[in-house]
Amino acid sequence: MKIDLLAFGPHPDDAEIGAGGTLIRAADAGVKTGVVTLTRGEMGSRGGTAERAAEFDAAAAALGLVHHAMLDLPDGRLASDDRSREAVVRVLRDLRPSVVLAPYWEDRHPDHPAASRIVQDAVFLAGLARYDTGQPPHRPGEIVYYMAAWEFEPSFVVDVSAQFERKLAALRCYGSQLHNPDRRSGEPATYISSGSYWDLLIARAAHLGRRIGAAYAEPFRIRGLVEVPDLVAAFGGRTY
Ligand SMILES: [Zn+2]
Repeated sequence: MKIDLLAFGPHPDDAEIGAGGTLIRAADAGVKTGVVTLTRGEMGSRGGTAERAAEFDAAAAALGLVHHAMLDLPDGRLASDDRSREAVVRVLRDLRPSVVLAPYWEDRHPDHPAASRIVQDAVFLAGLARYDTGQPPHRPGEIVYYMAAWEFEPSFVVDVSAQFERKLAALRCYGSQLHNPDRRSGEPATYISSGSYWDLLIARAAHLGRRIGAAYAEPFRIRGLVEVPDLVAAFGGRTY
């Protein structure tokens, strides 16, 4: 199986929060998309692994993913070590993505920058012929970083206005994690389970969308540059 656009999440829900609209838009255009989580989210304060796996399956269907899977790296203890790098190299060589999505390299939860580092390291190692996993080498063209809690000035944004309602529907699959007024579990509230976090996700997308004259947009960073070959074609139609 070949996946064109593959998103890595530290935990089930991160890739969907950061890039769900972009993944839906790609799927709408016929791009083969996938999400792989590095952990099963077993350290989460809310929800158990079985519930979180069921939420992940439901969100994958809502996003139109061709592939979704969870690795078994330790939640709360992610680090770029041999085991984690090799696990991700195996995924990269198996699915051969053209472009990889990863969490931004700075964030509030320590697993997020750790996952970012693991993916960055594994993308390099996956291209080395002598890093032997019994699979042919493969290196994606770019790592594109999505936003979680901590914000950054984006390298670019993706207009997800036409996909935004479906993104929210995919996020609602994570009833144990994100804002869910119907849940009466007695579990502790978390940073992302509050109504204000849900409101922030929508407000952030609307704010970024406004900056490109759209309703909603998702922000991304890359370490390199985006080339614009034709300034008039890229910017000449702007009316805002
Ligand atoms: Zn996370």
